[in-house]
Amino acid sequence: MIKILVVIGVLFLLYKVLFKKPNNNRSNNASNNPSFKEDELKEEIMLECFTCNILVSQNEAILDNKAYFCSQECIDKRNEDVNNR
Ligand SMILES: [Zn+2]
Repeated sequence: MIKILVVIGVLFLLYKVLFKKPNNNRSNNASNNPSFKEDELKEEIMLECFTCNILVSQNEAILDNKAYFCSQECIDKRNEDVNNR
């Protein structure tokens, strides 16, 4: 009975060793991701904040009522201005 457990233990270790290869591939993919992000940054579109006119990347910009904003603060400011008018 103990022999069976030892065999299972050895098989488990072998399985772990074999399983390391996919993990290495995953780390390679992860190292590829930053370069992919760099490509995204090159194509990034800069948008002007409706309230403070700061340029924000399209990824960070917040679209609200057909206008782009750099932050929720600027949306609130715009909303305040609209309410004051
Ligand atoms: Zn802003």
